[in-house]
Amino acid sequence: MTDPVTVPTYDDVAEAALRIEGHAHRTPVMRSRQVNEQLGLDVLFKCESFQRMGAFKFRGAFNALSRFTPAQRAAGVVAYSSGNHAQAVALAARLLGIPATIVMPLDAPAAKVAATKGYGGQVVTYDRYSEDREEIGRTLAEERGLTLIPPYDHPHIIAGQGTAAKELFEEAGELDALFVPLGGGGLLSGSTLSARALAPRCRLVGVEPEAGDDGLRSLAEGRIVHIDTPQTIADGAQTQHIGELPFEILSREKVEVTTAADDELVASMRLFATYLKLVVEPTGCLGLAALRNMAHELPGARVGVIVSGGNIDLARFAQLLLGGRA
Ligand SMILES: *Cc1c(COP(=O)(O)O)cnc(C)c1O
Repeated sequence: MTDPVTVPTYDDVAEAALRIEGHAHRTPVMRSRQVNEQLGLDVLFKCESFQRMGAFKFRGAFNALSRFTPAQRAAGVVAYSSGNHAQAVALAARLLGIPATIVMPLDAPAAKVAATKGYGGQVVTYDRYSEDREEIGRTLAEERGLTLIPPYDHPHIIAGQGTAAKELFEEAGELDALFVPLGGGGLLSGSTLSARALAPRCRLVGVEPEAGDDGLRSLAEGRIVHIDTPQTIADGAQTQHIGELPFEILSREKVEVTTAADDELVASMRLFATYLKLVVEPTGCLGLAALRNMAHELPGARVGVIVSGGNIDLARFAQLLLGGRA
């Protein structure tokens, strides 16, 4: 691999912000008087559900691909993902004129496969029960000379993801706390770099699904804990372990982690739809769900929440809201 493996810093986030400017959207920061009254807080929602392809992942993907050398651009990129990272890499590659190969499970939702193909990505399928996607990705990279871009454990991905929090602090000023969804840790570690540089007094809270509290355990135990794929409706945070670079940043900065249960995510989806008129995917609800549990600890505080994405099909959205349960 020719990729650097150094731990990124805030300078890398600032540089990523320049690279994505004019390509990624500067997403809106929204407030709800009703939510503020219910929680006794002033809450600022950074709405990455309005980012290109519907989630913050476009930021990291565009930043990483924009740094390819001419030879890397000509050969192409490979990524493995069944979710938002696949679409982010496919779209960023298309905008930059780079061929993209995306490794997806045979049983990936048809809508996601179609979206990835719609962005011009070449989809290679594998059997998730008998084949290893990382190995397929590596083999494709070696045989075809492609550059592998992982979803979170990469300095340029982390730097790109940190630009959402950077924009929020620039617009809102210092905050008392920031709540951020946690899967592999790209978004939380990038947000941490921005927070420490722009809002040093801000308390940082990463939020992962209750069914998969590996991040919380990893920071408590001082080593990366691996778990089985957690059963949760938060499919963007169904990771088996956090990345090495995120782990370094999160443990060095002593970032706090908490969890939210699936029924709490559904309750937050309902709040977003009712008061902010927002369609937010379950993973994007992790921050608000945890904040609702912790509001009593933060009376009167100004709190940021990263609303990480809005990609959910309408039938599923309706089913969750009406049923109330997973
Ligand atoms: C990927 C993703 C996350 C988790 O991000 P990590 O960088 O893996 O921690 C959260 N929300 C959404 C919508 C995502 O797509």
